[in-house]
Amino acid sequence: MEKKLGVYICGGCGLGDALDLDSLAKVATKEFKVPVCKQHSHLCGAEGAGLIKADVDQGGVNSIVVAACSPRVMTDVFDYGPAVLLERVNLREQVAWSHPAGDEDTQMLADDQLRIGLNRMKEMEPPSPFEGENLSKRILVVGGGLTGMSAANEAAKAGCEVVLVEKEAELGGYLRQVAKLPPSQPPYEDLQDVDLPDLIGELTGRSSVMIYTGAQVASIAGAPCMFDVTIQQNGSQAAERVGAVVLATGSVPYDARKLDHLGYGKLSDVITAADLEAQFKAGGVTRPSNGQPV
Ligand code: SF4
Repeated sequence: MEKKLGVYICGGCGLGDALDLDSLAKVATKEFKVPVCKQHSHLCGAEGAGLIKADVDQGGVNSIVVAACSPRVMTDVFDYGPAVLLERVNLREQVAWSHPAGDEDTQMLADDQLRIGLNRMKEMEPPSPFEGENLSKRILVVGGGLTGMSAANEAAKAGCEVVLVEKEAELGGYLRQVAKLPPSQPPYEDLQDVDLPDLIGELTGRSSVMIYTGAQVASIAGAPCMFDVTIQQNGSQAAERVGAVVLATGSVPYDARKLDHLGYGKLSDVITAADLEAQFKAGGVTRPSNGQPV
């Protein structure tokens, strides 16, 4: 964009009494060589606003510095659309209303505020909309345990393509060590059997789900709808583009050896929930100290 700069200095709200507006105009025209610099006693009025609008409409300016009041006010008046750059220099609240009128230092402050605004305008560029390329609605699910498989299944049912990555050679994760699941349906009284083959079969039977087992996610880069994923499997790499990521990497049991104050490691009958689950899975719970059924 070729900038056509215009500076408009307001003399209203006491600015004309407190400041030397000609000195400000000199900063714009002499120091910064601004081709269009105008003063008005009431820039937000019909005549003052019309002055700027006419310059914009006639193509004389497309980058406007308004030296007047705070940019928090009169936003509707000084609005020329997204194609016109606008910088507001606050000479009212930050200079004239908060510093002694007619003072040399006050004038220096005003001049500097205008210089700052002009330098900001020099660097300013019109905003351009972000246009993504190759946007993806695919979903990457990291982890092939119960959570990951459920997420992949539900996403596929909702019509999404899914890429599932599991680090072990088989799907299932911790579910393989679980004897029963908590109830997930009313009346929520009985534990549920784990039908892992059924769950895996449902997932592998879906053409919209791509499964990498014995694989790991090496890197994810990008942004929503544009994540580029590198997957390592058997010494080779695969690249996938996905729109969203579900992390379902499971958990690692806490090191119970750090819980000796609870008796773990000291009393053989103190075991972890994972130990107990393994016993259920094996067919029965026995007391470790004597091997008797509990
Ligand atoms: S409100 Fe702003 S633009 Fe209007 S006269 Fe006061 S300083 Fe100038």
